[in-house]
Amino acid sequence: ANQTQRKPDWLRVKLPVGKEYANVRGLVDTHKLHTICESGNCPNMGECWGAGTATFMILGNICTRSCSFCAVATGRPLAVDLEEPNRVANSVKLMQVKHCVITSVDRDDLKDGGSTIWAETINAIRRESPTTTLETLLPDFRGIWDNLDRVLAVRPEVVSHNLETVRRLTKEVRIQAKYDRSLECLSRIAETGLRTKSGIMLGLGEYEEDVIQAMQDLRDAGVHILTLGQYLQPTKSHHPVIDWITPEKFTFYKQIGLDMGFRYVESGPLVRSSYHAEKHLFDF
Ligand code: SF4
Ligand code: SF4
Repeated sequence: ANQTQRKPDWLRVKLPVGKEYANVRGLVDTHKLHTICESGNCPNMGECWGAGTATFMILGNICTRSCSFCAVATGRPLAVDLEEPNRVANSVKLMQVKHCVITSVDRDDLKDGGSTIWAETINAIRRESPTTTLETLLPDFRGIWDNLDRVLAVRPEVVSHNLETVRRLTKEVRIQAKYDRSLECLSRIAETGLRTKSGIMLGLGEYEEDVIQAMQDLRDAGVHILTLGQYLQPTKSHHPVIDWITPEKFTFYKQIGLDMGFRYVESGPLVRSSYHAEKHLFDF
């Protein structure tokens, strides 16, 4: 199969329904709030917002990297907006987000990699919405671990860093990243005793044994929570979809993951890194 074929039926978008969703929808429209859920046109909005989960992107919308799967624009980012932590915290409060996922573009142009704004954003949300739990989907900070530590010091409830793809495809899919550096990033997160999470997209051309190896590498790094989802090509100039992975195959990987000892495995065609995120707050 390839990307010129019609999407399989199992990728049909679920219609957003429910009272919670309608409430959040109203707030987002009235206050012109920004979420990844909307800008990424995520198929799970009804479900996530209904459950009180939303994803915000910080540090601008221009990335210093150019991953071949990603719809975010590459270029020279704008100056850091020091008001951003308060704005995001206000949005989280207005939207009454119960579990807040924060992600960012990669800021390889900044000495601190954006880690100061990251930490301030978490602190601001904690101040405004003390009962909201937080998940931070972090970059690799180019292996400058002091910057990673600055975010970990604020102790978000869940910390994720996505491996995105298998070792063999990393160079092609994430040109500025390194497979082993991402694993090191994850093992450093896990060593702090925080709930550690990672995700892989399938359908980029990986083989089954590549996927199982990547899953084992993540488990060996100490990762507790794993997400596996179907890659979808954002535009014609992005990496093509090589395979449509069947729901049965996702179930197969899920069982392998649970057998390896992951605490949670979200595995399915529509799974995104922040899908069902509110369910991953397990007790140690
Ligand atoms: Fe938003 Fe993530 Fe849920 Fe999609 S999966 S709606 S991006 S929280
Ligand atoms: Fe997209 Fe993240 Fe890669 Fe930047 S680093 S291009 S935001 S996936």
